Order: sequence, then C-alpha cells, then structure tokens
Amino acid sequence: MDFSLTEDQIAFGQTARQFAKKELKPNAAEWDRESHFPVDVIKKSGELGFLGLYTNPEYDGLGLPRLDSAIVFEELAWGDTSVAAYMSIHNMVAWMVGEYGSDALCQQYLPNMVSGEWLGSYCLTEPNAGSDAASLRTKADKQGDYYVLNGEKTFISGAGSTDVLVVMARTGGAGPKGVSALVVDAHSDGIEYGKNEQKMGWKAQPTRTISFNNVKVPVANRLGEEGQGFSMAMKGLDGGRINIGICAVGTAQAALETATNYVKERSQFGNPIANFQSVQFKLADMLTQTIAARQILYLAASKVDNNDPQASVYCAMAKRLSTDLSFDIANQALQLHGGYGYLNEYPLERHVRDLRVHQILEGTNEIMRVIVSRQMLQDEALSQLR
Ligand SMILES: Cc1cc2nc3c(=O)[nH]c(=O)nc-3n(C[C@H](O)[C@H](O)[C@H](O)COP(=O)(O)OP(=O)(O)OC[C@H]3O[C@@H](n4cnc5c(N)ncnc54)[C@H](O)[C@@H]3O)c2cc1C
Repeated sequence: MDFSLTEDQIAFGQTARQFAKKELKPNAAEWDRESHFPVDVIKKSGELGFLGLYTNPEYDGLGLPRLDSAIVFEELAWGDTSVAAYMSIHNMVAWMVGEYGSDALCQQYLPNMVSGEWLGSYCLTEPNAGSDAASLRTKADKQGDYYVLNGEKTFISGAGSTDVLVVMARTGGAGPKGVSALVVDAHSDGIEYGKNEQKMGWKAQPTRTISFNNVKVPVANRLGEEGQGFSMAMKGLDGGRINIGICAVGTAQAALETATNYVKERSQFGNPIANFQSVQFKLADMLTQTIAARQILYLAASKVDNNDPQASVYCAMAKRLSTDLSFDIANQALQLHGGYGYLNEYPLERHVRDLRVHQILEGTNEIMRVIVSRQMLQDEALSQLR
C-alpha cells in the first residue's frame, strides 16, 4: 500500500492551486457579498480541463480517475468553496452524459460542456421528494419521438445560468424503477426558472426551482434505457459525494492555514496566542482531522475507481465524516480568531457558512448513515467493510 501521490497527481494539484490562487481566492469574498456567479472564470477553467475531469478523452475530457479529480477539486475549493462545488456538479452532469449517453448524444453535448461553452445542472430534488428522491413526480410522457416533460425541480445548483439539464423524471410506475434520466436543453420552450434563492452560503452560485410545462425532449436524449435513471443518478452521486467531501476538505485546509498564521501574529496576555497550549492542541486536532477527512475520501475514490461493489458505502462514510469534520475545523478556525473571526473582513465566517450545506446536499448526513447502516447489517457484510 503506497500512500504517496504520483508525479501526475502532484502536477494536477499544483495547476489547480495556481488557478485557485490567481482566479478564485482573490475574488471569493466579493462574489460571496455580491452573490455573483463567475461564469467567465468557470469557463476559463475549461481551458485547463477542469470541466471534463473524468470525461472520456474521445470527447475532449481529461479522463482522470476519481482520486486525481479529487486532488484538483480540493485545491479549487481552497480558493472558493462555492465555485469549486458548482464545478464538481457540472463534472457530475458531464460524467452521466458520457457514461450513459449514446455516441451521438456525447458528440452533441460533451465537447461544449468540457470547454465550458455549456454549463450543466443536475435535477433530481423536488419540493416533495428530497431524501426520498425515488418518490419524484416529474413526469415524462412518451409521444412518438419525444417525451413531454411536466413537473417541478427544486434547489437546482446553477439553474438559470446553465445550458444542459440532466433531469430525472418518471416514465413508468412508482418507485426507483419507474425513473428515467433525460438530457434537456435548458433553454427549451416551457421551462421557467424561479428566483435565485437567498442562501446562508454558496452565494457565488445560483440555486433555483425549475418548472417544466409540456417541454418536448427527444427520445434520443434519454440516458440508457427507460427505468435506469434512478440508479444512474445514484451512481453519479457516489462520485458527487466524494467531490462535496473533498471541496469541504479544501475549505478546511484554507481555514486551518489562516488560523495557523493568525495565532502566531495575535498577542494577548503579553504572548502570541500560539504559545497557549490549549490553542496548540486545538490546531493539532484540526490538522489531524483534516488529514483523516482527506484520506477517507481518497479511499472512497479508489473504491469507485476500482469498481468495488461496496464503493457506495465508502462514499457515504467518506462524505459524512469529511463534511462533519471540515465544518468543525472551519468553526474552530473562526473561534481562534475571536471576534475577528465573526467579521466578514476575514474569510472564516464565509467558510463556515459555505460548509454548512455540505452536510445537507447530495444526500444529508443522516441519509449517509442510512446507507452505511443498511449495508453493515446485512449478513457477512461487515467483513467486507474495512
Ligand atoms: C444549496 C443547495 C443546493 C442543492 N443543489 C441541488 C442540485 O443541484 N440538484 C438536486 O437535485 N438537488 C440539490 N439540492 C437538494 C438537496 O440534495 C436536498 O436538499 C437534500 O437531499 C435533502 O432533501 P430535503 O431538503 O427535501 O430534506 P428532507 O428530505 O425533507 O429532510 C429533512 C430532514 O429529515 C431527515 N431525514 C429524512 N429522511 C430520513 C431518514 N430516513 N432517516 C433519518 N433522517 C431522515 C434529513 O436528514 C433532514 O435532516 C441542493 C440543496 C441545497 C440546499
């Protein structure tokens, strides 16, 4: 077992760190304040391949494994959590098209998605179908060569500013087996977007509801067969959960670096506060937690890369632990700044606000525990989970 990164992995990480340093970090506070979605900068990242990290090179992607992609997302999130997390969702959408779409569909969509010409949104959640996503009601009725799409999706990241929607819709009976995944042109007639939601964090990306009113979608835009959409959506989320986790770790790393510098500069009682042992112990715990969070995500990513049958369980464990730890690390970093941590002149309060949603979306951390416990209670399963 070798825990060291390859030269390529180090190089990808460095390229992403440089991009984050130059394009993301200097602007993150302003984008947060202004609720600005920096589409131009996101498109620029396409030149480096960051919008098609695990898309097949046949369609202009980098074709990287999940582990290598995670290294890139961590560095991007070090610069801006909200923008990096959106980019991870775009990559998830491109992955679903590439993995399950016909060659014609891939040719039509992927080169434009990889270059950033078209951005993507993942449309699963509905007002009455959140954690219980398999109960979704958006309906796709087949009429000749088209589906006619009706329904409402909610909490859709990027919506209103994106061009390609992967929509999970009901083409059959109740439950997960009645769901299909469709690639929908976001500018189609019959699509309406709600207001940009006012959120606690993730302000540098829009979140909107989407209404579909008799939207015509070619049957050729279906991913895979009818009824396979829910399992595709869940497979997409395996990788998505690694990304949401590693974006949390990138932010925790940024918070830890800021706090480590601050405690050396800030003096109270005639001493840099770094001289107090309770501060030193807090920093030690924060570093330990950051490394533990990163490593469980690398483990989950390697399980996905190796098609391990238990990969979903590792992704759930990794998402839960890494997002809980990262939120705690950012919160501790804020505490080490005292009152200054609470001011928006410092990045800590933004890190805390941004990280809170990582415990909620792409499956809440309670649902992650449902996935893990359901599997571990199966006969003999525990011996495979190590
Ligand atoms: C900023 C933001 C961006 C998002 N982006 C997207 C996106 O791009 N695409 C998309 O499809 N969705 C997106 N979502 C939706 C997100 O995935 C859902 O909010 C999430 O899955 C939870 O669903 P819900 O909000 O309906 O909560 P609910 O499912 O109503 O859950 C409420 C509470 O009940 C708990 N709960 C529910 N069931 C159980 C259970 N069986 N056992 C224990 N506890 C349970 C939950 O953990 C939670 O604490 C986004 C959400 C946010 C906030």
